[in-house]
Amino acid sequence: MEGGQRFSQFKILPSIKNMTTITLPSERLTYLENFGHSLRAASYLYKPTNAEEISDLFKFAKQSGLKVTLRGAGRSYNDAALNSSGIVMDLTGMNKILAWNPETGIITAEPGVTLEKLWQTVLPDGWWPPVVSGTMTTTLGGCLGMNIHGKNNFRMGPIGEHVQEFIALLPTGAELTCSPTKNGDLFYAMISGMGMLGVFTSITLKMKKMYSGLLQVNAVPVTNLKMHLQAIEDEAPKYDYTVGWLDATAGGSGLGRGQLHLANYLHEGEDPDPKKTMQVAYQTLPATMFGVFPKSSIHYFMTPFRIMPLWAMVNTAKYVASLRKGTYRQSHGAFHFLLDYVPKWDLAYGKGGLIQYQSFLPKETALDAWTELLKLSLKSGMPSYLGVTKRHRPDKFLLSHAVDGFSLALDFRVTNGSRAPMHSMLQEFDKIVTDAGGRFYFAKNSETTPETALKFLGAETVARFKALKARTDPNNLLESDLYRRVFEG
Ligand SMILES: Cc1cc2nc3c(=O)[nH]c(=O)nc-3n(C[C@H](O)[C@H](O)[C@H](O)COP(=O)(O)OP(=O)(O)OC[C@H]3O[C@@H](n4cnc5c(N)ncnc54)[C@H](O)[C@@H]3O)c2cc1C
Repeated sequence: MEGGQRFSQFKILPSIKNMTTITLPSERLTYLENFGHSLRAASYLYKPTNAEEISDLFKFAKQSGLKVTLRGAGRSYNDAALNSSGIVMDLTGMNKILAWNPETGIITAEPGVTLEKLWQTVLPDGWWPPVVSGTMTTTLGGCLGMNIHGKNNFRMGPIGEHVQEFIALLPTGAELTCSPTKNGDLFYAMISGMGMLGVFTSITLKMKKMYSGLLQVNAVPVTNLKMHLQAIEDEAPKYDYTVGWLDATAGGSGLGRGQLHLANYLHEGEDPDPKKTMQVAYQTLPATMFGVFPKSSIHYFMTPFRIMPLWAMVNTAKYVASLRKGTYRQSHGAFHFLLDYVPKWDLAYGKGGLIQYQSFLPKETALDAWTELLKLSLKSGMPSYLGVTKRHRPDKFLLSHAVDGFSLALDFRVTNGSRAPMHSMLQEFDKIVTDAGGRFYFAKNSETTPETALKFLGAETVARFKALKARTDPNNLLESDLYRRVFEG
């Protein structure tokens, strides 16, 4: 284990009436948080570096009666990688690229490899990951566990559609190779399965060919929600990526206003110096802002904007600036990972942290449902600080969050005073979304109840997931705070 320690350190006390009591090492007890810093849990933290150590940890969990949660970079907004009073298996120590073929674009990597390491390995050879999240700090294991989507979900599907195969280590100790044609049921369930069926120990993916390190970006203003959604639907087929910023502080005729960013890859010959733009140094975001402030301190300057009227002013200024249409070239890094530009921006929300509420709605019902949601948040005095829209298509993964429609992600600041009323408001949101045929993403919302999950997933899907879990994890060793909340609550 970490530092080469094995389980011999555990003192196994003499068995009492056939029961073995195990003293757990207090130095392993660690408080872990979700990305949004709105949740906290104490767990015994271990960092295995190979399959044998993972197996040993499962054996130990079975012996001690503790549950195990897998954790990548811990960038899920909710309790997906938290395990109150249990073991957390941090897989970031398994971070080797195992094979890379620049001719075919096929890469095999351990689960702790981050998207940052992935793109930095493949871009200089003329490739880019087919799907990335809005931060490059996530790990491949975590990305498959949630089946992440990018700003190209409507075109490329989720990351799982680009996985050729993976090796799964089950809590029983069995190792299985899974692909769409081999152990296919497990392939489609483990990807999206929230780390509840087994551990990805090796992942093989196909990258996308690139002819430049730049994207051609169009910025288009949209004046209200109807226009916002219509423009996404009309424009998406013409672009490789589509993402919208939504000003959730605006009401009345400006409800849902914002700006779309539509981007295309450059074709062969369009970039005069592709060798240069595909270098890692060309993509890397600068360490200072305006050439002066270290980026790591920027969140301090954002603190005053915790006050909602100030934040509404920022949104208005941003919207006014966005009214000028613009076309420009931007590096992949800057386009995809804008949030990484301000490290620790999550701390700007203050002690209570933030909740991200993301709903996915069919294109036929999105306008009415989100009009209701946005009005409700304004009326409740809890408007969102940041709204992001995307276009999606359905996929075949068991716990899929995608629909033929759109998603809207809303960030809410949590304070001691707002936690309870926000919980009530988000329960109302859930009802509006599920009544409109919508779905949720298990990497984001932290308020989803078992009833809501059952309603959007359907009883058959939940039963299939539980049957697979009984097969791969018969002793029910894998659990997380998310799993207990949503599937056993
Ligand atoms: C700023 C920001 C922007 C984001 N943008 C997007 C976005 O654009 N699109 C999107 O889809 N998501 C987005 N996310 C969410 C993020 O991509 C997911 O939560 C992702 O799962 C986080 O990866 P991680 O390595 O941090 O995993 P963790 O959060 O640590 O874990 C995620 C899940 O994967 C499981 N898991 C981890 N490792 C393994 C393994 N080896 N085997 C099996 N299961 C495992 C865990 O048990 C857990 O259930 C964003 C998050 C942030 C903070």
